[in-house]
Amino acid sequence: MQKGNIGVTTENIFPVIKKFLYSDHEIFLRELVSNAVDATQKLKTLASMGDFKGELGDLTIHVSLSNDTITVSDRGLGLTAEEIDKYINQIAFSGANDFLEKYKNDANAIIGHFGLGFYSAFMVAKKVEIITKSYQEGAQAVKWTCDGSPEFTLEETDKADRGTDIVLYIDDDCKEFLEETRISELLKKYCRFLPVPVAFGKKKEWKDGKQVETAEDNVINDTTPLWTRKPNELKDEDYKKFYRELYPMADEPLFWIHLNVDYPFHLTGILYFPKVKSNIELNKNKIQLYCNQVYVTDSVEGIVPDFLTLLHGVLDSPDIPLNVSRSYLQSDSNVKKISTYITKKVSDRLQTIFKNDRKQFEDKWNDLKIFIDYGMLTQEDFYERAKDFAMFSDTDGKHYTFDEYQKLIKENQTDKDGVLVYLYANNKEEQYGYIDAAKNKGYNVLLMDGQLDIAVVSMLEQKFEKSRFTRVDSDVVDNLIIKEEHKNEALEASQQETLSIIFKSQLPQIEKTEFHVTAQPMGEQASPVLITQSEYMRRMKEMANIQAGMSFYGEMPDMYSLVLNSDHKLIKDILSDENKACNSELEPAQAEMDTINLQRQELQKKHESQKDEEIPASEKDELETLNKKWNDLKQHKEDILTNYAAQNKVVRQLIDLALLQNGMLKGEALNNFVKRSLDLIG
Ligand code: ADP
Repeated sequence: MQKGNIGVTTENIFPVIKKFLYSDHEIFLRELVSNAVDATQKLKTLASMGDFKGELGDLTIHVSLSNDTITVSDRGLGLTAEEIDKYINQIAFSGANDFLEKYKNDANAIIGHFGLGFYSAFMVAKKVEIITKSYQEGAQAVKWTCDGSPEFTLEETDKADRGTDIVLYIDDDCKEFLEETRISELLKKYCRFLPVPVAFGKKKEWKDGKQVETAEDNVINDTTPLWTRKPNELKDEDYKKFYRELYPMADEPLFWIHLNVDYPFHLTGILYFPKVKSNIELNKNKIQLYCNQVYVTDSVEGIVPDFLTLLHGVLDSPDIPLNVSRSYLQSDSNVKKISTYITKKVSDRLQTIFKNDRKQFEDKWNDLKIFIDYGMLTQEDFYERAKDFAMFSDTDGKHYTFDEYQKLIKENQTDKDGVLVYLYANNKEEQYGYIDAAKNKGYNVLLMDGQLDIAVVSMLEQKFEKSRFTRVDSDVVDNLIIKEEHKNEALEASQQETLSIIFKSQLPQIEKTEFHVTAQPMGEQASPVLITQSEYMRRMKEMANIQAGMSFYGEMPDMYSLVLNSDHKLIKDILSDENKACNSELEPAQAEMDTINLQRQELQKKHESQKDEEIPASEKDELETLNKKWNDLKQHKEDILTNYAAQNKVVRQLIDLALLQNGMLKGEALNNFVKRSLDLIG
């Protein structure tokens, strides 16, 4: 029997492995089964090259449990005593110290570099045995035993068959790994698509109301998963079926992309565009990353561009350094190339579908939109590709590419400064009246109701030259796109003011909401009253909601304009009616105010050339008295108009109708409105 110490560096490495190298202890099973797969594949290769002339026979790998052990057995190429010494005892014999020094703070990186796979057994085992017999003619079977200290024994043993049994004597604190269900679950997670059959126990069947074992091996894996097969041999149904296997609860996918590249890196895989029903689902099902059909992880951040992490499917590449830290991944040049390649593939595929089957593309656009928007927002190179197939949808459900849409609206929606104005709504129902008004003017209105559209609008405004996006309710329709300076038929200032006082006095108080009242001519056919919200302020508030550091805007009240149409008969009626009702009272007050104004102006003019101390106190007092009088009169005027407004049902009715049209009439105000309407009818 041979005794010895495992390579020089293990004194340092062993405790590290045991304690905190692997955060996921469960991956020991993946490591051992993949070693068995490697050994089997190598033997197959030798056989195909004629270097192994024996029978390959059944190459199934067996995983089995006893009371205190897990055994992984293969019929691969096995190991000689010399090979054990070289590959097991002297782990990481080359430059080990350098690496350890470099990566001592990054445990996972050590594993990635050293291939300590086998030693991960010691995370769960107090003792490990390797019983192995090489495929070479006349090989002597050997047994290696190690109890987790750097000491091992190596002795000759009897083993009938070629191959390797790894026996793990499970630690007391890892008993969960002796449970059948736990091992089943782990095999399903890590070994489901391994290229060599892996059997765990026997198949079971129901007999006389009980589950009984059959004689047949319970093979847990699919050795030729879809992504390893040739795309031209596969049908749509195969892809859909595979998708269902991966994500049994998900809806049918929209599209898929079969990836297959050999140079300058190896990558295969299938990516699916999922149909996402809600936000919550977005991150539930994830892309699975494999390395030669061995499951590695489902957190592909850093490998796949951010926006594509929303896709589903599998990626398989031996060229992605596994088990290394994320920061390391991001700086790896292969990973960068892979990420670029995937972005290109995805956009190429979308481009192809768009070109070859535009109808299908448009039908699925609503579901696709979120991925493409996210991509355009986060990745410049994707925007450059996607801008040719990304779509606008208008409020009639028609789709246009960016270019098509620009051509469509160029004629009619360019303002006097040559800026192309994109009109949009974000709620077809709530903004119905505004959309209708815009359409009647021959404008097209986009529907931007997607989750990312606030950000998309800002982005496109930057990308498109001489263009501006304006929501249909941000102004009265005539002002949305100003094509020439307005001919001024506006009301006199005094009439503007009168209307403003009348309507302002009757506006209900709405929390965190402020109104500014204006009047302007909008044509006899247009609504008498409209509520608009400035594009700028609204957007600032919207951005504040999705972006940190803008809370100042978030705290501001919502500012609306109540715009009165001075061309409308009802508004004209109010003005003339007010004139009749209030003029006898208002006129003397106004006359007095005018006189005061003259007196004030005279004094002020005189004081302009004087220094403060030169102005006589009496004149200062006089000015103050005049100011006070003027303010009192102004208040008096306002009171008269407010009293008048209070008994004018049309004013309140018009306000309420405008509020109602914007979904802002609620509670008591709504109730009052209903009652008043009934009164007016009756
Ligand atoms: P890696 O697989 O990354 O090289 P491991 O520590 O998992 O690192 O294994 C070290 C070596 O031990 C392998 O390269 C292989 O030569 C040998 N080995 C491990 N398991 C087996 C096995 N089941 N059959 C034959 N050789 C094996």
